[in-house]
Amino acid sequence: MRIDLHTHTTASDGLLDAPALVGAAAARGVGLLAVSDHDSTASVDEAIAAGRRAGVEVWPAVELSCDVEAGEVHMLGYLLDHHLDWFEALLVRLRDGRVARAERMVEKLAAIGVPIDYARVETLAAGGAIGRPHVARVLVEAGWVKEPAEAFDRFIGRGGPAYVERVKVTPAEAVAIIRAAGGLAVFAHPGWARRDEWVAELVPAGLDGIEVYYPDHGHEMIMHYLALARQYGLLVTGGTDFHGGALATRVPVGSQYVPEEIVPPMRERAATRRPARVAPQMALSVE
Ligand code: AMP
Ligand code: MN
Ligand code: MN
Ligand code: MN
Repeated sequence: MRIDLHTHTTASDGLLDAPALVGAAAARGVGLLAVSDHDSTASVDEAIAAGRRAGVEVWPAVELSCDVEAGEVHMLGYLLDHHLDWFEALLVRLRDGRVARAERMVEKLAAIGVPIDYARVETLAAGGAIGRPHVARVLVEAGWVKEPAEAFDRFIGRGGPAYVERVKVTPAEAVAIIRAAGGLAVFAHPGWARRDEWVAELVPAGLDGIEVYYPDHGHEMIMHYLALARQYGLLVTGGTDFHGGALATRVPVGSQYVPEEIVPPMRERAATRRPARVAPQMALSVE
């Protein structure tokens, strides 16, 4: 059985909707799938229902963006109670922040002589969590760049001329939020940041795991993060970060090796966690 614990749908910047994602996963022999959209769980229930019909177990998940000054930090949350009122309200605030940010990116692009139509960005986002990939796709459509990666390199990557900070929570707050929602907090693709001290700092804050098996992680990196997980007693997770083929990691759903042995410890730990009725302390910030 294949396992993929990191995927996106049209609820954020993925290209497939929930039934199409589950269908693609089933066709590739995936038996356990987590739907982990950016700042949204809007596809989870539809994916669970589609999974029931297709024989795919679907886990509720989320990927919170909690960048720090020196780089991007993403926190995955697994097996949380995605219908908690305070949790849903928080995600709405984060998504509202994304709308304002996308508008400002389009303004900044116009100011440097790269005008695009914001309405088109909004259309591509289709009511989901709007993000830089939607801006990048419009930049491709308008002929300013050849592919989304070039849009990040030239304009909207961190430090680029049209980059805009987001409304966000800190990594420690993200851990607290996910745990208070009854879920497991997992440091996503640590090989992007390559800062083991960021992982270490979050262990006392309650970090549950790190994403070891990931398309951008080579063999040595996988060995390194397995050792780091062992050192700090962290759960090990993995997935493709599938966005629909043409975006981000560009690998097919279910194509990342993820051993089945990682699943029982995740289930066991999640079973001991109870969702909180109120939100933990946090200060949404734009730096
Ligand atoms: P945002 O959530 O708006 O900050 O956008 C981040 C998303 O952009 C990531 O989740 C990826 O899907 C995508 N992304 C990040 N870096 C790149 C890149 N260099 N090329 C293409 N897509 C990227
Ligand atoms: Mn993405
Ligand atoms: Mn990510
Ligand atoms: Mn992701």
